[in-house]
Amino acid sequence: MKSKIYILIGPPGAGKGTQAKNIANTKGFVLISTGDLLRENVEKKTELGQIAKSFMDKGEFVPIDLVAKIIKANIEQNLNKNGFLFDGFPRDLSQNILLDGMLKEFDLEVDKVIYIDVKDEAILERLTNRRVCPKCKKVYHMKFNKPKKDELCDDCGVALATRDDDKPEVIKNRLATYHKVTHPLVEHFEKLGKVIRIDGSKSPKEVENEIISNI
Ligand code: ADP
Ligand code: AMP
Repeated sequence: MKSKIYILIGPPGAGKGTQAKNIANTKGFVLISTGDLLRENVEKKTELGQIAKSFMDKGEFVPIDLVAKIIKANIEQNLNKNGFLFDGFPRDLSQNILLDGMLKEFDLEVDKVIYIDVKDEAILERLTNRRVCPKCKKVYHMKFNKPKKDELCDDCGVALATRDDDKPEVIKNRLATYHKVTHPLVEHFEKLGKVIRIDGSKSPKEVENEIISNI
């Protein structure tokens, strides 16, 4: 059976990372989160990570050749799985053309796009209070989704971290870029009848249930 291809789209802070792991686990999909993969490279100080960091810290896109390298390697390694869930890619129409090309090589195509819709007004509070476990990448919020103990990961016990790009001026930049070049992808996939719109303002559990029942 052909691998299914799902894409998560939404503004920064919509809750994509919060939902991605659970959806992938429930559906048996391989999760390809370009943000997580790039941050891993930054932490390990790989050559790719050192170049990527300067772009990420400013909230700018990392050069596409670097992103493409990471994605292609991940697709090739996992072709026999149920499917793939992309988080953070494609991020504009040109990246979508690239994805289409890669998928065609493996006789695959995008099945559905899960669009998590959250209004701009909520984004700043979500991102300035975001904490992430550096080990398992689980996402927390210091008001809406607090860890059980201080600032430690519930699962790993590791001290939670703040992302370098969750600063108000960088968040503004990322949100403006989202509206300018990423959101048009939602319109593109709507024309193809592939968009599942999810109200991301509901609780994380409600959002998860809505996504799972729709795919
Ligand atoms: P994204 O991956 O889309 O940038 P995250 O999943 O990292 O977003 O979520 C951003 C912040 O919002 C995190 O602090 C997370 O805990 C919080 N968050 C995620 N989903 C919800 C929700 N449904 N309601 C309230 N806060 C949420
Ligand atoms: P995210 O974790 O999706 O919020 O991504 C964090 C940062 O990683 C972005 O602000 C970009 O700098 C970089 N990034 C993630 N995915 C991509 C992509 N598909 N293309 C270019 N840069 C990306």
